Amino acid sequence: MKETINDKTLKELEDLFEKKSYKKFRARQVYRQIHINKVNDFDAITDLPKDMRFDLSKDFKFAKVEKIKEYKSGIDRTKKYLFELEDKNIIEAVFMDYNKRKTICISSQVGCRMGCSFCASTKNGLKRNLTSAELVEEVYSLERENGDINNIVIMGIGEPLDNYNNIVKFIKIITDEKGRNLSHRSITLSTSGLVPRIYDLADSKLDVNLAISLHYAFDYKRREYMPVAKKYSLENLIKASDYYLEKTKRRVSMEYVLIDGVNNTKEDIDQLCRLFKGKNIHINLIPLNPIEEFKHEKTKKALINKFQVALEKRGLNATVRQAMGSDINAACGQLRNNYAR
Ligand code: SAH
Repeated sequence: MKETINDKTLKELEDLFEKKSYKKFRARQVYRQIHINKVNDFDAITDLPKDMRFDLSKDFKFAKVEKIKEYKSGIDRTKKYLFELEDKNIIEAVFMDYNKRKTICISSQVGCRMGCSFCASTKNGLKRNLTSAELVEEVYSLERENGDINNIVIMGIGEPLDNYNNIVKFIKIITDEKGRNLSHRSITLSTSGLVPRIYDLADSKLDVNLAISLHYAFDYKRREYMPVAKKYSLENLIKASDYYLEKTKRRVSMEYVLIDGVNNTKEDIDQLCRLFKGKNIHINLIPLNPIEEFKHEKTKKALINKFQVALEKRGLNATVRQAMGSDINAACGQLRNNYAR
């Protein structure tokens, strides 16, 4: 079995190369080609001797994340991609170009096992985790298409904290100063709320931005729509969020998908105040993207704005997430599901 090469730290590459008796500087050379020049083919590393390229390609491979479909928005510069992996599994990613910042939204798993009832990505369960090599290649595939990006949000298909080790390795690689050198601060990880892993992430020193898919201010409501809430109460989730802020000094975002008549009543506003008044958190209001399996309407703009104003009046910090590429906006996971059908 060939080992993947694009998920190795420089140190790991140096050790591997030393075992194969390559000169040490070769590791740095290859590492720069992979992470700065975004090469994913040994033949393209033309500053290596030909026989070394051949030898390397016998021992190593690049993870395969190949574009098979691209959807371009007609109203803004958003693009959605379907990528195929080596084992023919399909994932989705989104490229957004807004306010002079290029942001990509990437998948962390093939499918998902969290079972949130409003989410398309979880309807066929979890197939497998993405490897750290695939995560790196997912980003570089998008960058080869669109140039270097400024921000990464890990909000595509999958629960990143359910693929914890690979996500951590991936973040270490793309933030490495000697390689891609992306700032930790330009990465946002979104979780449905795996409490123990939030503590791990806080302790990891990765200092990325954390977004929590809160969506409901009452445990009884959250449990109805998000099975993970049966395991971790809001009280414990918010304790973990407080710990994250304390450790990283990064303000946590609470994502709140508005569902008319379900979580936008006066009682929800009161409860949000009880939970967060005086806390340094930010509430990010998101319109519901209807999916076939979840029979609720797309949230109207006026309704979201009204809810935002109501929260602000009560002293909570809330903003409305800008909808991007709404004409190609099959809710996250829907493109993949439709493609499979
Ligand atoms: N599993 C992670 C990250 C992927 S989901 C998480 O749960 O945070 C990214 C975001 O999209 C989450 O906030 C999720 O709740 C939200 N989401 C899922 N389905 C949605 C839908 N139909 N409409 C709007 N947002 C949705």
